[in-house]
Amino acid sequence: MSGIMDSYDVVVVGAGPAGAAAAFVCAEQGLRTLVLEKSTFPRDKLCGGFLTDKAIRLISSTFQVSLQDMQGAGLFEYEAHRYGLYFKGARIAEDLFDHPFRFVRRTTFDAYLLEVARSAGADISFGDAVVECEPEHGVVHTEGGKSYQASYVVACDGVNSRLRKQLPDDRFDPEAWRDRLATGFEVSVPRSECMPDLDHPRIFFGYLRNGYCWAFPRSDEIVLGAGGLNRANMGTFRERFLDYLAELEVPACCFSEVKGHPIPCGNYLTQPVWRRLLLAGDAAGFADSLLGEGIYYAILSGAHAAQAVKNGPQDPEAVATEYIKQINADVVPPLKYWDAKARMLYRGMNVPVLGPWAVKTIVTWKKKKLFSRISDGLPKEQLQAYVDDNG
Ligand SMILES: Cc1cc2nc3c(=O)[nH]c(=O)nc-3n(C[C@H](O)[C@H](O)[C@H](O)COP(=O)(O)OP(=O)(O)OC[C@H]3O[C@@H](n4cnc5c(N)ncnc54)[C@H](O)[C@@H]3O)c2cc1C
Repeated sequence: MSGIMDSYDVVVVGAGPAGAAAAFVCAEQGLRTLVLEKSTFPRDKLCGGFLTDKAIRLISSTFQVSLQDMQGAGLFEYEAHRYGLYFKGARIAEDLFDHPFRFVRRTTFDAYLLEVARSAGADISFGDAVVECEPEHGVVHTEGGKSYQASYVVACDGVNSRLRKQLPDDRFDPEAWRDRLATGFEVSVPRSECMPDLDHPRIFFGYLRNGYCWAFPRSDEIVLGAGGLNRANMGTFRERFLDYLAELEVPACCFSEVKGHPIPCGNYLTQPVWRRLLLAGDAAGFADSLLGEGIYYAILSGAHAAQAVKNGPQDPEAVATEYIKQINADVVPPLKYWDAKARMLYRGMNVPVLGPWAVKTIVTWKKKKLFSRISDGLPKEQLQAYVDDNG
């Protein structure tokens, strides 16, 4: 513990949505809070940038900003009430969301949330990665040779989290994590080059196994992406995505711009805490297996970590118990639910010939509109009943 530079109540590692939420809630409660971010903001993050209605409501309640504040800050690149579902090139369904999907650019969105946290009193340090953590003592060390001590460290350092490795074997199994990992590929194409009139999101099944492709509109460009389970698309993932782009007649010169990034779908950790270290967001595997939605769960878990810290500042065991309780009440049940639905959907989708019919049946079952349910969030009682029945 030599060379400690400064001490805080809380050090948050990573300034994505999870880190901004943890920092805001801590700073708001008067805790001395430092965010350590390895890049310099504004920075981009590979992401489709869709925000469900439940995510918008959560941002409002967590960061104390209204929808009008967000609109006024120019956060939303696009709003869509309609969506289309396709099996390869053929449309299988088109419907309206009960509430619109909204699309953000992560450069502006993440910078906005972080600024709200900064305004609440959080200190922010950019451009220096955390390379080591001592969970027992709440100490972190950075690449630049600095060290900080805090009552708690909240690791929001994303899907490739370094700090996650500090969890004991029974809380994090790297092999199981790798086995369940998904990848997302994306490229942004100017509207002049592709789908110039697209005014609503389209989801395409059938190109990937255990995953889907998408076309999301922005004002000046279309975000084309693919996300799916690695082990189901072994070695063919990129090629399948390029096939999809070719079918949309995306110019080949755009292919070199394709980027990929892991998504921790189905990887949710149920005890993402050790000593004075708490993990939130992608670092803890909180992204849903059906759509790959992660922003909502990042904010929810970041805020829960901060609440737990606030409620038991001097007692790491009480903080751990509280955080695990909240995560397993609020975050894990919907992830489990969507994991089961994703498995059902993809099992149906992978059946030869019947795939399109199976997908259509599942997503429109009893007119319950699967995508609207993802967007709105499931009622607590329904989730509770699901957990009671399925463990
Ligand atoms: C292709 C793709 C498309 C997606 N589309 C959507 C979507 O449309 N909607 C949705 O809800 N979700 C989507 N997701 C998932 C979503 O992007 C993530 O779930 C979300 O960003 C998680 O937020 P986070 O704060 O946990 O992590 P991140 O947003 O990854 O932020 C982590 C931060 O930690 C910093 N960091 C990392 N290591 C260190 C370190 N050692 N020291 C200091 N700082 C560090 C990083 O620079 C980064 O700023 C998508 C993911 C992918 C890959």
